[in-house]
Amino acid sequence: MLQGARPVDTSERMCYIARMIALPTVKPAELQPVRARTILTPTGGFIEAFTHSLNPYMGCAFGAGGCGAYCYVAELPIARWEPRPWGTWLRAKRNAAEVLRRELQELPDRARVRVFMSSATDPYQPAERREGITRAVLEVFRELPIGLLVVQTRSPIVGRDLDLLSEMPFVWLSMTVETDDDHVRRALTPTCPSIERRLATMRRARASGVRVQAAVSPTMPHDPARFAGLIEAAADRVVVDTFCGDGAGGRRTARRSLPRRFAELGYGNWRDASSAAALHARLRAQMGADRVGWSRDGFNAVAITAQAEASVP
Ligand code: SF4
Repeated sequence: MLQGARPVDTSERMCYIARMIALPTVKPAELQPVRARTILTPTGGFIEAFTHSLNPYMGCAFGAGGCGAYCYVAELPIARWEPRPWGTWLRAKRNAAEVLRRELQELPDRARVRVFMSSATDPYQPAERREGITRAVLEVFRELPIGLLVVQTRSPIVGRDLDLLSEMPFVWLSMTVETDDDHVRRALTPTCPSIERRLATMRRARASGVRVQAAVSPTMPHDPARFAGLIEAAADRVVVDTFCGDGAGGRRTARRSLPRRFAELGYGNWRDASSAAALHARLRAQMGADRVGWSRDGFNAVAITAQAEASVP
């Protein structure tokens, strides 16, 4: 026993040992500080109703042993030109806030700016705890408000910034939750944060006055009734998607490890959209059609609303 550790009873010790066995160990992604020349990237494609995307980091630590199993970004040039495997490297844009302030001050009409943060990384990397780059970016947005900011993450670290987010009425927190079943999460994306921690963060955000979107993207095996109940309790709206919602009709996912893992685990055909469609229908019946979206249109819905609001004289 370690010096200073308190004695534990047998069941507690067994739980601890089980947790240690269940948790894969992953080397932290190698971090390299970089200077960004620009930070707001004009966007289109899958998130066409947004005007810009913002990526405070390049690379993504969740890719190693986690959602890299299906990550479409790992199939984009940014990752394919990099010799190291997706998930093992991370570039931190430490001047992101400074560049953002300059760019926002130069924009003629900030009310018409709709930013998706982030499209090619998770803004709440484990390294964000000490880097604070995303937090500094949020502070700039609070000072220079825009029409819409969607903060897209799967990381409960966002809970650290609820004080800021709750002061920004133009923000949506969009949290990825692919299933209600943590066994499924551990089987397919073992190094990603637990489902319960994500749901708890969503509930906290909502209680703080932050608008919350659940991104069931992509939909993994789940218990439909239980999952729908958990989402309704944690989110103001929800977007449901499939593994084919990777911006290339499933071609990017097909090149990842997910199809093989799906087959090994006996989860059926990873391209089959029927369980996602059934969950979508159940949620619409439960929460109302206007609060439940599907794939690309679902992700763009909040931006379309913000665009319409900005056009009202
Ligand atoms: S968090 Fe997003 S960007 Fe990062 S590995 Fe997972 S799916 Fe890819």
